[in-house]
Amino acid sequence: MSDLHESAALSARRLRTRTALLAVLAEYGALSRSDLGRLTGLSRSAVSSAVADLRAEGAVTEQPAPTGPVTGRGRPAAVVALSRDNGLVLGLDLGHAHITAAVGTGEGTVLGEATALLDIDDHPQRALDTAADLAVEAMRQAGCGPEAVGAAAAGAPAAMDLRTRAVRAPTILAKWIGLDPAAELARRLRMPVAVANDAEMGARGERALGAGRGLNDLIYVKASHGVGSGLVLGGQFYRGATGLAGEIGHIQLPGATSWCRCGNRGCLETVVSVAEVRRRLTHVLASADRGNVPEEIPPLDELGGRPAAARVITDAGRTLGRVLADLVNCLNPAAIIIGGELGQAGTPLVTGVRESIDRYAQPAVADAVEITAGTLGVRAELHGALVTAAESRRTVA
Ligand SMILES: [Zn+2]
Repeated sequence: MSDLHESAALSARRLRTRTALLAVLAEYGALSRSDLGRLTGLSRSAVSSAVADLRAEGAVTEQPAPTGPVTGRGRPAAVVALSRDNGLVLGLDLGHAHITAAVGTGEGTVLGEATALLDIDDHPQRALDTAADLAVEAMRQAGCGPEAVGAAAAGAPAAMDLRTRAVRAPTILAKWIGLDPAAELARRLRMPVAVANDAEMGARGERALGAGRGLNDLIYVKASHGVGSGLVLGGQFYRGATGLAGEIGHIQLPGATSWCRCGNRGCLETVVSVAEVRRRLTHVLASADRGNVPEEIPPLDELGGRPAAARVITDAGRTLGRVLADLVNCLNPAAIIIGGELGQAGTPLVTGVRESIDRYAQPAVADAVEITAGTLGVRAELHGALVTAAESRRTVA
């Protein structure tokens, strides 16, 4: 079982135990194991196993008490304290309709998390203020203050110029153009924040903890409101000359004519965005139900068993695969990992992508690439931010 699955399976009780320990350590500083038990009401064995986990992650240290009481055998009692260079980091995932903040580790453990639903595109300042508020709430849930958080990173659905760190067009975030999200977030959070495009964060999450483990050449596709990609080439995250690589959503599709928000016609994301796929699903589900328009489209991962819906999704996969086939010819990746909301559709989507790659890519490179949905789902970007923050802390240290 992977670390991530292990941590996902971490029982609610174990999580509460950890949270309780972190909370009292944040409040009291260093404490002996017996004090930890007394203050949290936890059993000695529960304290012991949680302290062992937290030590292994680097979140706490345990040392002899400097002037502490002496135990019966003459050994100084040990005290547990939040590690100064502790394993806790802050990750932020900014999407078009939500912001999530999480405090956890770069190994897939989340100790505190808070989400708000809002339209970030038209309200950059409010979105950034909300991100900072959510970070505070995530720390509160994790039982720690800002001093316990070693580093922070954020993914944002925007193309950012490496030279200026500012948001650039073409972007969905028209009102964000010229803003420096890293500086804006750092000012609000009073700590440095590494910011990258959301698809790159998704690639970082899947590569560290999900379907991309151990792979040095992969393409992560975030198929959501827009379509973007994070590229790992030769073991490096590839950003291009100015940081704008991977914008596959604006590759032209032969025969497509719809206007795109970028000002061109026939871009990939005019056909394969989650909004467009949902529009077509609404149509076919209404037809299947004698014209009754469904009030709500079921989650994409529940549609596989409905043949008409599965066909719509497979067709979207073929269109996406048409563009990815050219990338496969060019880059010879070991895997294409599909994330974002559309990635939730799973098998029917992957089937469509596979068909197009087998048809349009050269057989030798088509055979070499595995096509798969991400194993972290829509949480890839959030975990990628936590992983990135943890790496930035190690780099600084
Ligand atoms: Zn476009």
